[in-house]
Amino acid sequence: MSSDEQRRLGQLRDNLAAVHERIARGCADAGRDPAEVTLVVVTKFFPASDVLLLHRLGVRHFGENRDQEAAQKFGEVRAALSHAGEQEPVLHFIGQLQSNKAGHVAAYADVVQSVDRPKLVTALAKGAHAHDRRLLVLLQVSLDGETSRGGALPEELDALADAVAAEDLLDLRGVMAVAPLGADPDASFARLREVADGIRSRHPGATWVSAGMSGDLEAGLRHGATHLRVGTAILGSRPSLL
Ligand SMILES: *Cc1c(COP(=O)(O)O)cnc(C)c1O
Repeated sequence: MSSDEQRRLGQLRDNLAAVHERIARGCADAGRDPAEVTLVVVTKFFPASDVLLLHRLGVRHFGENRDQEAAQKFGEVRAALSHAGEQEPVLHFIGQLQSNKAGHVAAYADVVQSVDRPKLVTALAKGAHAHDRRLLVLLQVSLDGETSRGGALPEELDALADAVAAEDLLDLRGVMAVAPLGADPDASFARLREVADGIRSRHPGATWVSAGMSGDLEAGLRHGATHLRVGTAILGSRPSLL
């Protein structure tokens, strides 16, 4: 390993340890068991080499938000890992998704966290069949009535959940949300928990709540998050243009 790689590995190790420490403290404060929380490390904008270093540090769940970038990067990552006989990473697609890209995402993602409309359900199901793969699905919820950044309105969720549940290769696992900009994350995630409870009353397998990022993971943990999506706090800041 080159000295640059050594330095990056050290940086990622320190940042990862700090995030695990925040999770441990956040769980203790919320009276929760850290074993019920999955850390998804968001590697968008960062290279396959970082994913491989994180994998070496024990990370198994990764998040990406753009189809082309994710396909290319995880193609490389999986080839390198399977060559070395290493454990497969689990890839969570967390970005806004056009239905014409959904078939492609179905070829390589394990979890799609950003399902927010019926057309996407149909397209993912078709893709899952074409590639003979099973996909785990979270419904992305808009918590401020604004859907331009992705997410279904709470009143649309029952129909969307039923549409996912009707597909044999899609497994409805729960909900995801981003706290709206400027909103109190505690209020947002409290609302998300109510929404999640409503869906679970009709779909008992939908137990996941993906809530909390670098800036608000403690709020997520206070309101029942089972999955945290953390990028910046582990990989550093991303270029701000996009
Ligand atoms: C980029 C992104 C994250 C990670 O955000 P950080 O603030 O860097 O931790 C989480 N969720 C979604 C949907 C994202 O697009």
